[in-house]
Amino acid sequence: MYPASFDYSTPTTIDEALRLLAEHGENAKLLAGGHSLLPLMKLRFAQPTHVVDLRRIPSLRGIRRDGDTLVIGAMTTHAELAASADVRDAAPIIADAASQIGDPQVRNRGTIGGSLAHADPSADLPAVILALGATIVAAGPAGRRSIRADEFFRELFTTSLNADELLAEVRIPVSTARSGSAYAKHAQPASRFAYVGVAAALDLERMGEHVQRVRVAVTGFANTPLRAIKVEEALLGRVADADTIAVASMELDGGSELNDDTEAAYKVQLARVCVDIALRRATERAR
Ligand SMILES: Cc1cc2nc3c(=O)[nH]c(=O)nc-3n(C[C@H](O)[C@H](O)[C@H](O)COP(=O)(O)OP(=O)(O)OC[C@H]3O[C@@H](n4cnc5c(N)ncnc54)[C@H](O)[C@@H]3O)c2cc1C
Repeated sequence: MYPASFDYSTPTTIDEALRLLAEHGENAKLLAGGHSLLPLMKLRFAQPTHVVDLRRIPSLRGIRRDGDTLVIGAMTTHAELAASADVRDAAPIIADAASQIGDPQVRNRGTIGGSLAHADPSADLPAVILALGATIVAAGPAGRRSIRADEFFRELFTTSLNADELLAEVRIPVSTARSGSAYAKHAQPASRFAYVGVAAALDLERMGEHVQRVRVAVTGFANTPLRAIKVEEALLGRVADADTIAVASMELDGGSELNDDTEAAYKVQLARVCVDIALRRATERAR
């Protein structure tokens, strides 16, 4: 099916893109890699009359270190994340997840900004960003504002971004402690989206094996990625050995937010296995 007709702009600065958004209001849509937007337009679930392509805005691209923060531009592709030495060094979980997204075409076109803004409940990077305690920077008519990952994903396909804002960059705190992070995914065999995916990030104490900080987030479970708080509580302050991790993994229950489908019990079981794998890998990386 063909999309409905639309006008198309290729701004070269963020300000120009924001002006176009303000001018066309609800009828405008930002285009990044197009791997989620174009299928929606072809099915006519989305019918923007003006498409604002972000690909010619250099300031939205790239990966850099800013002191103890890793800064990733919104238009950075999944393939660039997977291949980046800076990402592998500072937050290997991002490379883990990005390298498992879809297929090579999707990874070479799809972007971190598009993935987070789209907020698909089975996407990989939202859970990763949540586990890392990242901050999302939105650019809008009044300037820039920072949104904590915990507050960014509001509902199914809904984020805290306002209609007149764009996602400019993602800022990830890089721990100086003995830290490790990992992503474990059971992919839906046809789409490669996460049937269940678990992101884990933790710090070990400087001279020992006790867990000083831990965040675990699950995707594929509910309308938004969820923190696995009970798992985190079962691990915090304890020695991260295989037995403790196995016991903590069993604390995952999906809670009241788990989508009540016929596969819920199976999903919980599968997610517990993914929690176990992600936590063990994150611990090994922290040592
Ligand atoms: C076959 C296939 C398999 C896939 N498999 C996976 C998978 O395994 N795991 C996974 O996580 N994802 C998967 N995806 C989705 C893929 O990761 C997409 O790239 C991603 O969801 C959207 O990114 P995009 O850059 O293509 O965004 P687009 O499709 O261009 O945009 C998506 C939405 O985000 C908005 N948007 C884009 N950029 C910005 C911005 N900077 N600021 C504000 N709003 C913005 C757009 O207006 C649009 O509403 C798959 C997609 C396909 C087609």
